[in-house]
Amino acid sequence: MLQDTFGRRFYYLRLSVTDVCNFRCTYCLPDGYQGRPEDAFLSPAELEKTAQAFARMGTQKIRLTGGEPSLRRDLPEIIDRINRIDGIQTLALTTNGYKLPQRIQEWARAGLSQLNVSIDSLDAHQFQQITGHDRLDEVLEGIEIAQSLGLKVKVNSVLMKGVNDDLSSILAWLKQTPVTLRYIEVMETADQQVFFREHHVSGGEVKERLLADGWQAVLRDVAAGPAQEFWHPHYEGRIGLIMPYSKDFCASCNRLRVSSLGKLHLCLFAEHGIDIRPYLQPSVPIDDLIHAVTNHVQGKSAAHSLQNHISGAMANLSQIGG
Ligand code: SAM
Ligand code: SF4
Repeated sequence: MLQDTFGRRFYYLRLSVTDVCNFRCTYCLPDGYQGRPEDAFLSPAELEKTAQAFARMGTQKIRLTGGEPSLRRDLPEIIDRINRIDGIQTLALTTNGYKLPQRIQEWARAGLSQLNVSIDSLDAHQFQQITGHDRLDEVLEGIEIAQSLGLKVKVNSVLMKGVNDDLSSILAWLKQTPVTLRYIEVMETADQQVFFREHHVSGGEVKERLLADGWQAVLRDVAAGPAQEFWHPHYEGRIGLIMPYSKDFCASCNRLRVSSLGKLHLCLFAEHGIDIRPYLQPSVPIDDLIHAVTNHVQGKSAAHSLQNHISGAMANLSQIGG
């Protein structure tokens, strides 16, 4: 089992398939994607080899992310290849929900088991102001179809002071909607320091409010994501809080990241990624890749330094995958 020097075990891999995105979320890519052509990103064969190696090291869950993964035309092939790997129990995808109603059936057929969809507001006008797209209804319709196909669906919402920190519309929605909505504290990145200062609000404040209103904490699974989750007997849905600024957030870290260019990131906020792409080529034995990853993981730091405004190599989260 892949383990670091602090005894943390890595059950969970976030695998980015592209940096490209078509949305312009205010906290991520407010000026839209400005990068390289798509053909530089890892091929389905390279992604499959990465997933195979991690599965052999004990990884049980893989999340495909980006950028916007749905922009890759070969996404169904990527899902299919990874779904066939022994040991991968959960194959999840994070998406902005673009054209979700048209695409979700093919992804489900290829073997996707879990879907995370980003929705920062249930108000169509505000959704458009945040993302640059008038597509809230389409995204909500896609979620319903995904649920009818048996996929486990979670919604990601970046918690922003003065934008969506009044929870009333979300709570009303969760009363009858069986999804888990995870509030993510907005994180500071090199591109978004001013936005962060203006809009960061601690998830701890939301937690206190939930506990006071009768919400109760759910126990975490070993391959679970970073959220603290809460349930309430009167609500169909659950609420999760992802609080990277909270004390001891990194102590329970169970995940690693590989970027769409084949860089292993030991932390979202590490100073640089380690290039594993040479090991992904067909002529290189998979044991060499496993050996390289196992060695590099020993260099994982105990914690990030976000509190000191050090956000590492990443200019925005589309580059490594949030
Ligand atoms: N494009 C897809 C999406 O938006 O779901 C996947 C990639 S996106 C980088 C993954 C997640 O990171 C999204 O839920 C997004 O809201 C979140 N995110 C992006 N920038 C962030 C920031 N600065 N702080 C907190 N969360 C952020
Ligand atoms: Fe694109 Fe996702 Fe970033 Fe929004 S959060 S700009 S959808 S990568």
